[in-house]
Amino acid sequence: MRSAPAKPDPLALLRWYDRRRRALPWRARAGETADPYAVWLSEIMLQQTTVEAVKPYFAAFLARWPDVAALAAAPQEEVMKAWAGLGYYARARNLHACARAIAARGAFPREQRELLALPGVGPYTAAAIAAIAYDAPVVAVDGNVERVVARLFAIERPAREAKAELREQAQSLFPGRRAGDFTQALMDLGATVCTPRGPRCGDCPFHGACAAERSGDAEAFPVKPPKTQKPERRGAAFVLLSDGAALIRTRPPRGLLGGMAEFPSTPFRADFDPRKARAHAPAAAPWRELPGMVEHVFTHFSLRLTIFRATLPPPRPGIENCRWTELGRLEAEGLPTLMRKVAAHAGLGLE
Ligand code: SF4
Repeated sequence: MRSAPAKPDPLALLRWYDRRRRALPWRARAGETADPYAVWLSEIMLQQTTVEAVKPYFAAFLARWPDVAALAAAPQEEVMKAWAGLGYYARARNLHACARAIAARGAFPREQRELLALPGVGPYTAAAIAAIAYDAPVVAVDGNVERVVARLFAIERPAREAKAELREQAQSLFPGRRAGDFTQALMDLGATVCTPRGPRCGDCPFHGACAAERSGDAEAFPVKPPKTQKPERRGAAFVLLSDGAALIRTRPPRGLLGGMAEFPSTPFRADFDPRKARAHAPAAAPWRELPGMVEHVFTHFSLRLTIFRATLPPPRPGIENCRWTELGRLEAEGLPTLMRKVAAHAGLGLE
């Protein structure tokens, strides 16, 4: 008679974590208590962003705003500038609003329910803060953990359709203690061993107790959803120069790239007609359409921008809702990545 397959042993994962845990700037060392501010800040930054991309931003934020009260007291514009380049700018606005909400109540809430009520804090982030900073008995399920759990239990549906099942199965693994370490151990396992491609099952603490490994094709999990093409939008941006300065404006506070600096641009639309682009130019000028286009991919659409460039003789005219920024000070505007591409395309040297 064949014996039943072994079950994943959560204590084996904790033992693996004690030997292999990643040293991350926001992570408490073994035996230390995690700082909820560092946990929260890093978790918001890490949404849709890699560890390596986050590290310098995390260090810069912590050096400048060492606690939540300092961040709450900062002008929003400064926070947005410091965030520039990290993408998904709604996170920065929510981060600031959240810091203010926490400072107003005096301390970080400990309960998941209260954490969830904070701006920009979703179920995953609330669970991560509760588990890592306060040792609450929950398992936070991020993309890495989803992959590990989908493989351990060979879940046959794409992750986005199986969220509840993935959370339940992750929670079923919880060993009843060391909640913060357990969540971080699952994250580390997904990031370093149970990687999207080429998982190293022989080095895994769940080796021999994993359904995907037994299937002989661990990479087939999580099951991929059918591919959908991102819709495309078009638009134009206007780079106007005069006497060593470029014309810049601030986008409206809400919506795509809300509150960020930009070269004046048209709305980005699927039905945008490039022939009518000049009607959106911020001023009358000898506009020249530059060859090629700037391409950028947002979460929900990909964008192709036509770039117009013109130079006006001094003195620089005043232009409604816009400001002139010396080219040498363009870096300090904190242009988002899309606008840095526009600057580079127009030959202004930023990338
Ligand atoms: S045994 Fe392989 S597929 Fe299963 S959790 Fe470990 S690394 Fe991932």
